Amino acid sequence: MAMPIPHRDLSKSNAQFQRAVKRLPLGVSSTFRYWGDDRTIYVHHGKGGRTWDIDGNNYVDYRLGYGPAILGYADDRVDEAARRGMEVGGVFALSTERELIVADRISKMVPAAELVRFSNSGTEAVMAALRLARAYTGRESYLLVEGGYHGLFDAAMWMSNMEEWDLGSNTDPELVPYGKGIPQTVKKLAHITPMNDFQRLEDVFARHGDTFAAMLIEPIQGNCCSIMAQAAYVQLARELCTKHGVMLIIDEVKSGFRVGKGGIQGIMGVTPDITTFAKAVANGYPISVVAGREEVMRTFRYGGASHGGTYTAHSVSLAAAEECLRILDETPALETLANYGERLKAGISDILNARKIVHSYTGHPSMFGLFFAETPPDNYRDWKTSDYSFYDQMAYYLHDLGVICEPDSREPWFMCEAHGLDETCLTDTLKAVDMAVDL
Ligand code: PLP
Repeated sequence: MAMPIPHRDLSKSNAQFQRAVKRLPLGVSSTFRYWGDDRTIYVHHGKGGRTWDIDGNNYVDYRLGYGPAILGYADDRVDEAARRGMEVGGVFALSTERELIVADRISKMVPAAELVRFSNSGTEAVMAALRLARAYTGRESYLLVEGGYHGLFDAAMWMSNMEEWDLGSNTDPELVPYGKGIPQTVKKLAHITPMNDFQRLEDVFARHGDTFAAMLIEPIQGNCCSIMAQAAYVQLARELCTKHGVMLIIDEVKSGFRVGKGGIQGIMGVTPDITTFAKAVANGYPISVVAGREEVMRTFRYGGASHGGTYTAHSVSLAAAEECLRILDETPALETLANYGERLKAGISDILNARKIVHSYTGHPSMFGLFFAETPPDNYRDWKTSDYSFYDQMAYYLHDLGVICEPDSREPWFMCEAHGLDETCLTDTLKAVDMAVDL
């Protein structure tokens, strides 16, 4: 029997939306935060693995700001460090000693990060990585992988026209921009290949490899259901890049310092030329990293590739990063959150299996995708052809029941250490899932 649909009181959020939309496009500061005129949530505060909205509803939160709150919101240890960072004084157009301390920690955790530069956002770090690759190789074009996301800059905002691209034809796809305002001229430099299609990867390198400055890959697609590259696929990418003199950029903006101390590259045993990190570096304080092979990174110099920015290595973010990375490196925080992810998956599976709802998971327990098919997707094409309406409906009801996951199933569920330290997060989530799947 269908249960009554639960109802959250969002009257304060709705009133805030009506005021905000007069000043802020869609009433928000990032388009993805708009969930509809009567469902857009305004946050009062977050603590641990939960978020409270201005109506007083609280949610077990699996978005975690798209991943950054790796320890949980308002983590006392990191916030205390950030306060110490405030005493340093902000930004100086000069360097501080802490930059080396944090860079040393990153190099220790990720051996491919021989040299390190800081930026502010994931977009900035990937932009810097691509520029570095171009400056080092003297080439301009680059290869993307279908389903990947690398930030908001023009060069990264391309996808293939999947429906019309005949994979058997050994041709390049027509590229389509993610939205308006992206110049068509940029398209000439971009190429794209399907994830985990070994033959297609060899083919595109055979056709264009000698013109590529870089291949950009997210081996665990944090914006596409956590679809995983097969390790052998990334290893092939490594071989082809080496053979053609192409920089392999592994974008670990989401996976870095989350799926393991050494990132997804450590798990897959692949050494990129350049890596980007951002989200988990400082538990939500804005900082990102472009790091890589010494010879390549030394291209950041006068007369080489430009890199900088007024706010790079801000003293507050750096102090937060120092403490956050120390915790991730020296304590079992990552095991705690991965273990929580395993238990959550098992609990959700028990609920779904009891109703004979076929499902599978993608990704890593610390950032997993839930997929309603027997076989999890191997690439974006699989996801696109699946029926996601059940997920969408479940996510919708989960919000009403006090669990926040992304309404779009392409965004994974993110775990934080605080989830693992608060048993009520698990019990409340499973109670909500148990109800949501019957609605
Ligand atoms: N790269 C990856 C893999 C991402 O997931 C994201 C953001 O989600 C970015 C780059 C861009 O990061 P930001 O939103 O901090 O600019």
